[in-house]
Amino acid sequence: MSARIAVYPGSFDPITNGHLNIIERATCLFDQVVVAVANNSAKRPAFSADERMDMVRASVAGLPGVSVDSFEGLLVDYLRRIGAKVVIRGLRAMSDFEYEFQIAHINRRLAGEVDSIFMMTSEEYFYVSSSIVREVAALGGNLSGLVPPAVMQKLHERHPRAP
Ligand code: ADP
Repeated sequence: MSARIAVYPGSFDPITNGHLNIIERATCLFDQVVVAVANNSAKRPAFSADERMDMVRASVAGLPGVSVDSFEGLLVDYLRRIGAKVVIRGLRAMSDFEYEFQIAHINRRLAGEVDSIFMMTSEEYFYVSSSIVREVAALGGNLSGLVPPAVMQKLHERHPRAP
């Protein structure tokens, strides 16, 4: 049987412990989990693609079966290029559902062989998002427990007055 590869795509701007929790749980279900950082300039990310990838790499180091990559353009084209058929996405609240539902359907329409798997957030991270993390960091709040150490360090460099 061929290896079961799943792709976890996202902006990861920056990666949070909520993302990391999904990645760790996905490694129990798949042989390989590829964290695919979207390099989509239209989204105007706070961190460059290289910075986002570096933070993901540092955060998943040591997790068996996890690799980090980036992609531009359509996710389904990327999946075909690397021979993957499964997309993992995380769900926090009903507000995530509508968007994710739409994306899963358009991806299926564009590539019938692709399926999306949704993993429910762990309760301690349901309110954690990259944007809330950026906002708290900018205002000097304490983010311990919410982001991996590499992200904490990066946010400190950007906002030196954060504790
Ligand atoms: P995108 O811009 O593609 O939505 P994100 O980096 O914001 O990228 O999110 C990537 C995926 O991770 C999405 O499926 C999102 O719902 C999920 N996610 C984000 N934060 C959490 C969290 N705290 N718990 C579970 N899933 C999450």
